Amino acid sequence: MSADDTHPLPDALGFKEQPISQLLVKVASRCNIDCSYCYWFRDAAVYDKPKLMSDEVLQQLLLRIEEHVARYSLVDFPIILHGGEPLLWGVENFHRIAEACEGISSRTGCDVPIAVTTNGVLIDDEWLDCFEARNISVAISLDGPEHIHDIHRKTFQGTGTHAAAERAARMLASRDIGMTALAVCNPAYPPKQYVEFFAECGITSYDIMIPDATVDETPASVGSFYNGLFDLWLEANRTKPTADIRIISDMITAMLGNNSPTEGVGYKPIELCTVMTDGSVEAHDVLRIAGDGVTRTKFNIFEHAIDDVRNEPRWKAARDASIQLAAKCQQCKFMNACGGGYLPHRFSKTNGYDNPSVYCDDLYSMFENMQSVLANHLYVSKPDGERLDVRDALAGA
Ligand code: SF4
Repeated sequence: MSADDTHPLPDALGFKEQPISQLLVKVASRCNIDCSYCYWFRDAAVYDKPKLMSDEVLQQLLLRIEEHVARYSLVDFPIILHGGEPLLWGVENFHRIAEACEGISSRTGCDVPIAVTTNGVLIDDEWLDCFEARNISVAISLDGPEHIHDIHRKTFQGTGTHAAAERAARMLASRDIGMTALAVCNPAYPPKQYVEFFAECGITSYDIMIPDATVDETPASVGSFYNGLFDLWLEANRTKPTADIRIISDMITAMLGNNSPTEGVGYKPIELCTVMTDGSVEAHDVLRIAGDGVTRTKFNIFEHAIDDVRNEPRWKAARDASIQLAAKCQQCKFMNACGGGYLPHRFSKTNGYDNPSVYCDDLYSMFENMQSVLANHLYVSKPDGERLDVRDALAGA
């Protein structure tokens, strides 16, 4: 790793303070399946919450959303419905929130798109009609082929859920619904098995996410898996775009100096918050991987505006940690593209978030591989038509 390139920490104005720009809304706090790696149930505090969001909480939430987008003149305010399993909330409630958000849009001029992340088990034609009619985009958890998916994604009786999830994914892909499949990487299997499975299902937009782990754990290395995935993606897209694999496109976006749209890639503050089923407002949801109640705040939508959470110490601590990187990351040549890794992956009981990612070696290898491959594909055209290798061009050849 290059140690000659130091990056100063941003000062308080290094990143402009922004209002909360999207909401994660927990409409159900329980799940209908029992995935072994779910971060949600690592935090016993979730069992204190009501199973489903009530109509009283929903109506108050809608008031707060309209107040928030109007106060800050937002043009775009995405709502992500989450759980547990959000479809347990019921299709009527999805119609209700979507219709209300359409009303907020027409009154304020702010687009309030709705997305949902689901395990797919409950999806039927009525749900498809709702997603299509209400323009709700769907991310479905599907870990590739059956023999990989069913290792972790099981019912409470211990049977695999792959058949139900694949059926739902194929149904979604057959309709005019924005859908993405979300897999979690299992590096014991080759990336080709994932890529071939999604192609066979007709799924052209998917992610294969790095498994959640903190620095106190010793997860399996994922570098070789992702370097292989990148090679497959490059080969498949050489002549025409065939599939969008989110982690690959986000890493390329970040390597090229642009803002990656997802929070796990790139150097930028995390500005999310989560509304729970009882209307309480918490810091970034996935930080609950760090332990019981770590995301809990004193804020709720009955007494506080959405943006008030920005004054809350735990929310601020998570936001500050996302841009105050460990010393090793500040010296790293991939600091801007990597951003120190996904925030939960930086947590340890002794240092909090002041660590490089538990996947640091893997991330470094992925960025280095990507950098060298991309450099071979990028060139600069001179006025006389000569093509210069981008590295020679940058070196002033
Ligand atoms: S976590 Fe990322 S930014 Fe930090 S040292 Fe490792 S590769 Fe570099």
